[in-house]
Amino acid sequence: MDLGIAGKKALVCGASAGLGFACAKALVKEGVDVLIVARTEVPLANAAEQLRALQGGQVSYLAADVTSIEGRSHIFSTQSDFDILITNSGGPPSGDFRNWVREDWLKAIEANMLSPIELMKQTVDGMMFRGFGRIVNITSSAVKSPVDGLGLSNGARSGLTGFVAGLARSVVAKGVTVNNLLPGTFETARLAKNFAAQAARQGISADAAIQARLAKHPAHRFGQPDELGHTCAYLCSIHAGYINGQNILLDGGSFPGVF
Ligand code: NAP
Repeated sequence: MDLGIAGKKALVCGASAGLGFACAKALVKEGVDVLIVARTEVPLANAAEQLRALQGGQVSYLAADVTSIEGRSHIFSTQSDFDILITNSGGPPSGDFRNWVREDWLKAIEANMLSPIELMKQTVDGMMFRGFGRIVNITSSAVKSPVDGLGLSNGARSGLTGFVAGLARSVVAKGVTVNNLLPGTFETARLAKNFAAQAARQGISADAAIQARLAKHPAHRFGQPDELGHTCAYLCSIHAGYINGQNILLDGGSFPGVF
């Protein structure tokens, strides 16, 4: 299927690795010109090199922290006329809420709620003016089905989800859609770190922790980042203009609800 977005311009955040990189890859393959952003220059430059090798859309990169005012100013002083925005960054740490202080909450809200909102604020009016826009926020399955110990993520991302529900309805008449992708468990570097930490807490090997999780998963496997990347590219396509304000769960059926 031709997604009809060749030549569109995308800002893909948190894109040197993992889910953000997979989104950038799927978009570049569709001929979208991407600006990829992450904080660390060397892996980001390597990611850009891999994307250029696909010989799709143009690829540029910028090292910036999307959760900081300076980082976002840096991005938008370089380019602002994006047709597609993919918001993404790291997730907050896990722990027990009894140990979190106000500062921990503010950091999580800043990174996983206010930063995506600021990125949308900087781009959505231009999209509406030009009559086409696609915004996809990478959030988490924890928004729908809270994960024990991930209270900072569950809380901050739910705030973003509530905001997006309102924004989406106010922009779609001008050709702009806003949706959230909710990853379950995907095989990325972050996941490997999470399992290593869980294994250490439980006094078992990382492999034992992984096998225990897989045994309980209906698909008996984790998601591959490219599966999320292709879903993201479809949501950005001209064919997805009537999908708006949705929270799309990609978890292989792990969430046991009917709807
Ligand atoms: P990952 O493999 O660790 O990749 C994260 C990417 O984001 C890297 O490119 C990283 O590069 C960049 N990044 C992190 N913080 C950033 C910041 N402040 N500004 C700009 N770039 C930043 O992580 P992932 O597994 O793809 O996860 C992506 C998001 O999805 C996270 O928020 C995670 O909580 C969420 N999620 C993931 C899963 C999963 O199973 N993987 C499940 C649910 C939710 P630098 O570190 O160099 O900046």
